[in-house]
Amino acid sequence: ADAPAKKTSGFGLKDQDRIFQNLYGQHGSDLKSAMRLGDWHKTKEMLLKGHDWIISELKASGLRGRGGAGFPTGLKYSFMNKPGWEKDGRPRYLVINADEGEPGTCKDREILRKDPHKLVEGCLLAGRAMNATHCIIYIRGEFYNEASALQTAINEAYKAGMMGKNACGSGYDMEMFIHRGAGAYICGEETSLIESIEGKQGKPRLKPPFPADVGVFGCPTTVTNVETVAVVPTILRRGGAWFNAFGRERNSGTKLFAISGHVNKPCTVEEEMSIPLKELIEKHCGGVRGGWDNLLGIIPGGSSVPVLPRHMCDDVLMDFDALRDVQSGLGTAAVIVMDKSTDIVRAISRFASFYKHESCGQCTPCREGTTWLQKMMARFENGNARSREIDMMWELTKEIEGHTICALGDAAAWPVQGLIRHFRPELEKRVEDFARLNGGEAFAGGH
Ligand code: SF4
Repeated sequence: ADAPAKKTSGFGLKDQDRIFQNLYGQHGSDLKSAMRLGDWHKTKEMLLKGHDWIISELKASGLRGRGGAGFPTGLKYSFMNKPGWEKDGRPRYLVINADEGEPGTCKDREILRKDPHKLVEGCLLAGRAMNATHCIIYIRGEFYNEASALQTAINEAYKAGMMGKNACGSGYDMEMFIHRGAGAYICGEETSLIESIEGKQGKPRLKPPFPADVGVFGCPTTVTNVETVAVVPTILRRGGAWFNAFGRERNSGTKLFAISGHVNKPCTVEEEMSIPLKELIEKHCGGVRGGWDNLLGIIPGGSSVPVLPRHMCDDVLMDFDALRDVQSGLGTAAVIVMDKSTDIVRAISRFASFYKHESCGQCTPCREGTTWLQKMMARFENGNARSREIDMMWELTKEIEGHTICALGDAAAWPVQGLIRHFRPELEKRVEDFARLNGGEAFAGGH
């Protein structure tokens, strides 16, 4: 029978439906406390049901990757199980991307700090889905306390016989390691992260070959995000259909949102996917500073997606498809709120500097393009650009977008495109103000 049509309104989670019950640290993060909250319950039985069962439940859940790309998780976790995989003989790696460095994003950090057993158990079950023998958690170097909390959880799991040889008495072996990064944003890109694990400079690889064929040390590898893996045990325990009942069609489940900027109470909160952006902010953050009318714009998914002006924030839903339809994106679901006191040109200029700094430099459109974007944005910020440079800058973003090895190029181009698309009058005003100050000379300092 066809699945019932999913709702289109009335989104919002009840407390008992929240997966991350210890997000604010009300309970301990140790093994005993985690077990009291339901972690590690019937893990052996779930492991014994085998990889096909885990993958079919994940497919039924509709879970899409929480790192930004939104790729269907069940499908991704099946890529390493091609016919004949048993005869391959190479080690098989599950790699967890805990290199959370996207500006505005602090959701995985909360899991690592407060709910590390959700991640450790998730690694075991996700690893079983792809028959991985090793799990490496690549954690950003700045996350010292988080790495310590995670190592404690891993040690507890080993000591209790839940990890390592014959994990949970299931006959399945899984070894788990932490690898700490050294501060490069680009190492959050999956192939760059693999290079870094191998001890090389963090520079993205061309694909294909894809990591599922040739990943860490030339072996089959799946790289996946912390939040994605950490929800796997609950999905398996409660059933894919349970998770799929939240949110909209193709945008299902619960989701962590990290809300920062000009709100009364910034927070990271787990909510239902597709909750309206305005409701998310008013329900959990006490609203925008000075009220909704004082809102200038919102970046809904971390620094890599275009900003939305206020009028587009009134009704938009927080999910992959709704935000794509308004030429933005869910990204990492880091909601950056800017009220009318914000210098939006300066804010986007700051992002341009960030991407220029973090470009690995191996492909020309990104290396040169981010440098020029940063220079041009600085000219607008300082008020000494010409008005025709707005269109030149748009052209430049189009030269970068889609012409690079990895997504950092797009990530640099999109915020500037959002600025031009929605805040062109702000850019023009900079030029005019400068012209007025200089007695009609709009080009002083330009070249
Ligand atoms: Fe490096 Fe930028 Fe090319 Fe990515 S797009 S590989 S960061 S130069």
